Amino acid sequence: MEEDGFAATKLFNQGYSYTYDDVIFLPHYIDFATDDVSLATRLTRRLPLLSPVVSSPMDTVTEAGMAAAMASLGGLGIIHSNLPPQVQASMVRSVKSRRVPLLSSPTFKSSEHRIDSLDDFDSSPYVLVTQSGSPSSKLIGYVSRSEWLQLDGDKKDARIDTYMTSSNELVVPWNYSLAQMDNYFKEKKDMDLAALVKEEEVVDLVTREDVDRLKEYPRLGVGTVGPDGGWRVGAAMGTRLEDKERLELLVKAGVDVVVLDSSQGNSIYQIEMIKYVKGMYKELDVVGGNVVTAAQAENLIRAGVDGLRVGMGSGSICTTQEVCAVGRGQATAVYKVASIASQHGVPIIADGGISFSGHIVKALVLGASTVMMGGFLAGSTEAPGAYEYQNGCRIKKYRGMGSLEAMTKGSDARYLGDTAKLKIAQGVVGAVADKGSVLNFVPYTLQAVKQGFQDLGASSLQSAHDLLRSGILRVEVRSGAAQVEGGVHGLVSYVKKSF
Ligand code: 5GP
Repeated sequence: MEEDGFAATKLFNQGYSYTYDDVIFLPHYIDFATDDVSLATRLTRRLPLLSPVVSSPMDTVTEAGMAAAMASLGGLGIIHSNLPPQVQASMVRSVKSRRVPLLSSPTFKSSEHRIDSLDDFDSSPYVLVTQSGSPSSKLIGYVSRSEWLQLDGDKKDARIDTYMTSSNELVVPWNYSLAQMDNYFKEKKDMDLAALVKEEEVVDLVTREDVDRLKEYPRLGVGTVGPDGGWRVGAAMGTRLEDKERLELLVKAGVDVVVLDSSQGNSIYQIEMIKYVKGMYKELDVVGGNVVTAAQAENLIRAGVDGLRVGMGSGSICTTQEVCAVGRGQATAVYKVASIASQHGVPIIADGGISFSGHIVKALVLGASTVMMGGFLAGSTEAPGAYEYQNGCRIKKYRGMGSLEAMTKGSDARYLGDTAKLKIAQGVVGAVADKGSVLNFVPYTLQAVKQGFQDLGASSLQSAHDLLRSGILRVEVRSGAAQVEGGVHGLVSYVKKSF
C-alpha cells in the first residue's frame, strides 16, 4: 500500500537534524470543539500547569513582573540568576505575595521624609507613606505624582506629612484576585489605589487604572497557584559552590522549582548539583539541562532530575552552533529526548526557537510538556527594561545570556566561561519590537495552539503524544519550496494581523 506521510520514528531516524520549520504534521480527524482541547500539563514530575508556557531565565525576559504574569496565565516564570542571590530571592517572594499580575514596587517614605525628586515615582505613580518608612509597618497615607508636581516649589521640599493624603483605608488582602480588586474599586468609587498587605507588610499597590487595563485583556483563569495561595514561581541557578547558598535563599523565599542553568547540562558539575538538591530539599523539584540527546538525558535522569530542558543552539539570540559546532535541530532534539524521558515519567521543556503558535504545536506534539520562550516574550510590557526608540520603532533590549554584555554581569557560568582566561560569546545583544502585554497576546497564542491540536485530532497533550508514538499521526519534511508555499506568498504587499 502507498505510504501516506511518515511515522515520527521513521522521520527522525534518518540522520537529519530537523528544526520546527522543516517538519509538518498531516491533519487527522476532528470529533471535538477547539474549546474542548485541554493544554493542562506538568512542568516537572510534581508541578502541574494549566498552560504549557514558561518564560526563560534571561535578564531581559524574566524578573518578578514577568513571572507573576506567566503564573496568572497558568504557565510559569523562571527568574534569571544574573543578579545577587538576595535580589533573586526577594523577586521570588514578591511574585508569591500577590494574586494580581501587576507589579509596581512603589517607593516608601515615613511622614518625616521628603520626596527628593521625580525619581521617587519611577516605578509607580504613587509614593506610599508608612509609620517606619519601610513596607513592614502601618500605612498612613500616600502622595500621587500629579499632586506632587502641582505643589509650589517650597512645598515640594517640605515634610511629606504637610501635604500627603492621609488614609489608612487603602488596605486590601494580598491575595485578592483581579475580580475582587475590580469589585473593590466599584464599591469605593472615590478611591484610585489600594495597598496589598500580607502579614502587616505592604507588598505593593494596585491602581484603578491598572485594573481597568487588565480587564481589557482576555479573561484570566485561576492561574498557577501554590498550596500557600500565592503564585508559583521558579528560579535559575548554577552548579558552583556558591550556588548552594543561592539555593538556600531561594528555598527560604518559597521557590517552587529550580532550573540548573547550563547550555550543556551533561556534566559532572550538574550531576553533583542535582544529587545535592535532591538530597537537601526533598520537596523541591529540579530541572536539569540543557540536553539534546537521549544519552545526555539518561545521565541526568539517573541523577534524579524532575524535568529536562531541551535545546542547544536553537535560541533566537544564540550563536552556539556557529561558534562551537555543537547542538541539534530543535524538532529532532525534542523528539529524541522526549522518547527517552517519557519512559521515566520526566516531563521535558522545549527551550528556544519559538517564533509563533505553530512552533508551540510542533514542540508539544513532538513530546514536550511545556515550551520555554525568550524572544517570543521579550519586548512585552512585563519584560524587564525600559522601552527605547530605534529607527522610529518602539523596542526593548533582548540579549543572549552568553553575549559578552550579559556575561560581564555573571551569566558566564552558564557557558563555563567564568573561569576561562579568554571569554568567547555564544550569544548576541539585540532588540525586539514592543509587543504589548503577555496577558493579551499569550491567550490568543494558546487559542491558536488549541486549533492546531484540533486539526490533529488531539484533545490533550497526552493524546497528541499517544497519536505520535503510535504512528497514527503522520509527519513529513517540508522542501524549501513547501516552506515558501506554507507562508504568505505572491502578494505585492499585505498586512499580517494575528488577532
Ligand atoms: P528564544 O526563545 O529567544 O528562541 O531562545 C531562548 C533560549 O535561548 C533560552 O531559554 C536559552 O536556553 C537560550 N539562550 C539564552 N541566551 C543564550 C545565549 O547567549 N547563547 C545561547 N547559545 N543560548 C542562549
